Amino acid sequence: MDFDTFRKQNLKRWNEIVISCFWLVLFFYVIGQVTVLILSVQLDRAEFELQNYLIYHMLIPDLLVLILTISAQLLVRVKPVGSELGILILGTLVSYTIFSFMSGDIHGGQVILALPIITSILYFNKAHLLYSAIVNISYFIIKYIFFTPANGNVTPYEFVVSLLMLSGIALIGFGVIARGIEMWKLLEDSKKTEQDLMVRSIILDKLTKTDALTGLYNHKTFHEYMENLIEQSDSYPLPLQLCILDIDNFKKVNDTYGHKVGDTVLKHVAKVLEEGTTQDDVVSRYGGEEFAIIFTGKTLEQSRILLEEIRQTLEQLTYEELEGRSITVSGGLSDRDATESKDQWFVRTDDLLYEAKRSGKNRIVTEHFISEKTS
Ligand code: GH3
Ligand code: MG
Ligand code: MG
Repeated sequence: MDFDTFRKQNLKRWNEIVISCFWLVLFFYVIGQVTVLILSVQLDRAEFELQNYLIYHMLIPDLLVLILTISAQLLVRVKPVGSELGILILGTLVSYTIFSFMSGDIHGGQVILALPIITSILYFNKAHLLYSAIVNISYFIIKYIFFTPANGNVTPYEFVVSLLMLSGIALIGFGVIARGIEMWKLLEDSKKTEQDLMVRSIILDKLTKTDALTGLYNHKTFHEYMENLIEQSDSYPLPLQLCILDIDNFKKVNDTYGHKVGDTVLKHVAKVLEEGTTQDDVVSRYGGEEFAIIFTGKTLEQSRILLEEIRQTLEQLTYEELEGRSITVSGGLSDRDATESKDQWFVRTDDLLYEAKRSGKNRIVTEHFISEKTS
């Protein structure tokens, strides 16, 4: 994300806040006028020109500021984002109105010209700040040089101080924006570092958990999952089945077609296992050409059916690399028995696999069921 995009975030809300400030300025302006009115009536009863004050120092400027504020409000409503320059121009006009209609007796009224400059700092936009600073400072200088007598009592001393103040505010504004950009860069850098670290840790995590050839969980991860699942099923009934699968006569594949072809077959088998099981099952390459699967949330029969489908899919899958031949698998499948240990369960299942091999291969043996060889 570049700085401009970053700057524009939440701009809608900030435009609304600035408009609220317009209303606040109008509110305080009226309060100020009424205060001056009360004080003037009490202090210079004879000299005070009530009608003149009411029309030229209250009614007309108030109406102008009200019109400008309503315009700014409408502008934001029509264009919630992107109306910043318009808002700044209207803000500048509000300042001019208040400053121009201010009674000459009021010293320091030029402070109001700082408001548009400060507002442009809120937008973190150097171009807008530059515009506000130049326009408002120029206006103040022109007004002082050409209209001082009409405007009242801005002394040369007050003029210089005000000029320095307005320029100082603009300079501080540039500093604030530069600091903002610096902070944004730091934030971006740290975000990027954080993302890099996250990606690296995900990759590392995957690398340590999975087998590089097949992408299935490795031996170590399989045992971790098995332990966790057993723990869970001990505290909360969760049906579990364990299956150990072994490719039949795989040595012959390697000996006849080479190790590389053997690897290709392993990858295919892994894919069929993944596709043939559900998301709730843990499929791993236990080692060599042996795979271990834990089925969760199923009955023994449901898991057996899934395995049977896998066995048949593999049996029918032919490989170009094996000159159109296929490979078969044998497996042992057993239900979790809560009374036995993890190792006992594993050995019992391994025995079933051994039985499948001994009784002719290409079959799944469960405790009570031996699937028939179909080819
Ligand atoms: P059985 O039907 O009794 O399981 O016979 P088998 O030939 O499959 O069993 P055996 O244990 O004798 O051979 C397993 C072979 O698996 C030995 C080894 O060459 C091969 N093997 C183990 N890991 C890999 C591997 O990562 N890549 C390849 N290509 N072959 C492997
Ligand atoms: Mg083996
Ligand atoms: Mg084998």
